[in-house]
Amino acid sequence: AVIKSVRFLKSAVDMQTLPPRLIEAAFVGRSNVGKSSLINMLCGKKRLALTSNTPGKTKMFNYFIANDQKEAHGRRFYLVDLPGVGFARVDSKTKDHWTQFTTDYFWERQSLKIVFHLIDSKIGIQKHDLELMDLVKETDIEEKYCVVLTKVDKLGNKRVHSQIIDGVLDALEEKALPLTTNIIPTSSEYKIGRDHIWKHMYRLMLS
Ligand code: GDP
Repeated sequence: AVIKSVRFLKSAVDMQTLPPRLIEAAFVGRSNVGKSSLINMLCGKKRLALTSNTPGKTKMFNYFIANDQKEAHGRRFYLVDLPGVGFARVDSKTKDHWTQFTTDYFWERQSLKIVFHLIDSKIGIQKHDLELMDLVKETDIEEKYCVVLTKVDKLGNKRVHSQIIDGVLDALEEKALPLTTNIIPTSSEYKIGRDHIWKHMYRLMLS
């Protein structure tokens, strides 16, 4: 297993409050997309990631550290829970701050190895997803970028499934992002996609 232990480390509100550099994987998505559930599934925990519905928490970068115990043999790294960039319900000043923070983070955080963009498969691509894709393009992190479809258990049939994938591909094309970008279907409810994400994460982290 990649993770021997994992715990919440801290929340960061700007570039100055980020923890010391360690290899890290970021998970981005608006609240309710299924981010906490996914992080919990990946780590095999029931309630590691506090659900980000907790007011304040949604605006911070929440850091989890893996393999930080003395007896843990795995490599130490961070899992970072990032709020989505397109905050529907916040004022423009807050939105500007977080857009700027995320932009700086994508540009400057060299230890950032992977960015998982979570998209609710039942809802599909929304405005904030397109905004995030713009940010990925602008900050030149395409090779770290990967799409994760959440809650695929909610999709009724195969046709719905392919519509979602087509929607993601259209958005990638519109934003001039590579069509070879990984699109990983997941369900935290049914533990679908766990190995796929880990394999992807491992490959990028070791590269
Ligand atoms: P967050 O706000 O992005 O951290 O989202 P949560 O992980 O708290 O999940 C939001 C809601 O979606 C909760 O009611 C979860 O039970 C539900 N949910 C999350 N993942 C799944 C999934 O894989 N399948 C289904 N059916 N529901 C899910």
